[in-house]
Amino acid sequence: MPLPGISRRTVLAAGAATAATTALAAAPSAHAAAPTLPNGTSSDKVLVVGMDGLRHDRIDAANAPHMKAMMRDGTYGLSLLYANPMAATSSGPGWSTISTGVWPDKHGVRDNTFTGKNYGQYPGFLARLAQVRPALSTYAAVDWKPLDTQGTVTPGADAKLVLDGDRDGYVAHDATITAETESVLRDQNPDVLFVYLGNTDVVAHAGGTGQKYLDAIAVQDAQLGRMLAAIKARPTYATERWTVIVATDHGHVDAGGHGGSSIEERRTFVLATGPGIAAGARPLDTRLVDVAATVFHQLGITPDPAWGLDGKPIQQRSTDPFDTLQSALTQRVDETGIPAGVLGFTHTPPSGWSVINSAMGTGGMTEWRGWSFATDEFWSRTQRDQQRELNVRARGVFAVADSDEWADKSFSGTYDSTLVSPAYAVGGSTRATLEFTTLYRQEGSQRAEVLASFNGGTPVLVRSYTSDVISQHQSLSVAVPSGASSVSFRFRYTGANNWYWTIDGVKVTAS
Ligand SMILES: [Zn+2]
Repeated sequence: MPLPGISRRTVLAAGAATAATTALAAAPSAHAAAPTLPNGTSSDKVLVVGMDGLRHDRIDAANAPHMKAMMRDGTYGLSLLYANPMAATSSGPGWSTISTGVWPDKHGVRDNTFTGKNYGQYPGFLARLAQVRPALSTYAAVDWKPLDTQGTVTPGADAKLVLDGDRDGYVAHDATITAETESVLRDQNPDVLFVYLGNTDVVAHAGGTGQKYLDAIAVQDAQLGRMLAAIKARPTYATERWTVIVATDHGHVDAGGHGGSSIEERRTFVLATGPGIAAGARPLDTRLVDVAATVFHQLGITPDPAWGLDGKPIQQRSTDPFDTLQSALTQRVDETGIPAGVLGFTHTPPSGWSVINSAMGTGGMTEWRGWSFATDEFWSRTQRDQQRELNVRARGVFAVADSDEWADKSFSGTYDSTLVSPAYAVGGSTRATLEFTTLYRQEGSQRAEVLASFNGGTPVLVRSYTSDVISQHQSLSVAVPSGASSVSFRFRYTGANNWYWTIDGVKVTAS
């Protein structure tokens, strides 16, 4: 219950955190009384549970009934992180991405030094909620201290519990966080909670992702279970609409450790249950930036475009035509570095699209002979640390032209391939706008051109790329000639063992 006369925006638990730390150092079973929150004002409520370094492919092998029930009852989206030079697969960038809902090139955190952080422009979602919905009752509990001291998670929270796991250990502190969150959920009326559990990461660092790691997952799953039970035991539960989100900041190599660019380190997930969130869904297009966007959506908040969020609510599907190719994806042909069974590429374009390869050289890597359609995992597995990991604003399946990989097997001629969009109606409009996301790396005489063809006429140049574009949204506007009724866009890439170009999320509008 709220204490009368206490300002809503006052952080009430700073003393409690210190007391808890002190108490635990002396007696690990003790825990401080839960902080007191202002009374909640919303029947739409959100609990976000962050589990550090939780490799999702190990959940399957663990005794984790609560997460598995959430997978059955909710939506479970798997995806990959960036790698350097955008950011390391470390906790600073990972939790910043989850909290702010933007990628590291915006929030500025590239490693655990937090140098370059830009939380002023891109605050965490609790800080944003404090700005736009100050009447919400919010709570944060963390035991990786930088999430508080660096301002990643706790700013804006009405009450917080901050423990120092690096100094005093995560086992007892995760237990304290669980007990106090349980108490807050059961005995008070919070609206939004961000709870962090850290022991999975520590155990993986110490001994890899084997049995002890599975045991740590089981402990955290039971802790999640206690929080879920506390929610269901609320006397007002029947009139409330709870969303629960579980996510992680990065994966781990099998032997333990992260920060690098391997697929295992880059693995992340977002798991969510709640109103409007489909049961059993496994979307191809979820990414880690979607946590914050889902929090806002479930609270009925429409993000201001000025916030610059990269995420979208987890239940909202991308309208990207390339994602329709999911069931057509096949495994490697010549790329023996990609494990067999990873279904991640096709040359078959979506309905209405085509590829012109009449000027394309012969031979080369089958997968990359002309424009292909591929997933992040399949394409970035071809060769690590050449910035293919930075395609963060693509979702699901995207189009890729990659003369560098194509040239990894004997070939003749040059790479010259054109991706052609369907014809879009523009009759009566004065301008057509083409939007897409792109990752482009320039080298040598490589060329990348966007062209427009009206009523099937000779394509005219709209834009050529001559320098790197590292995962950016593009908006290209062209004048519609009088009398034109349709426009088709073309993406022509030419090169010879140079770099690559990706296209995703193509959308055309006329006005
Ligand atoms: Zn770690």
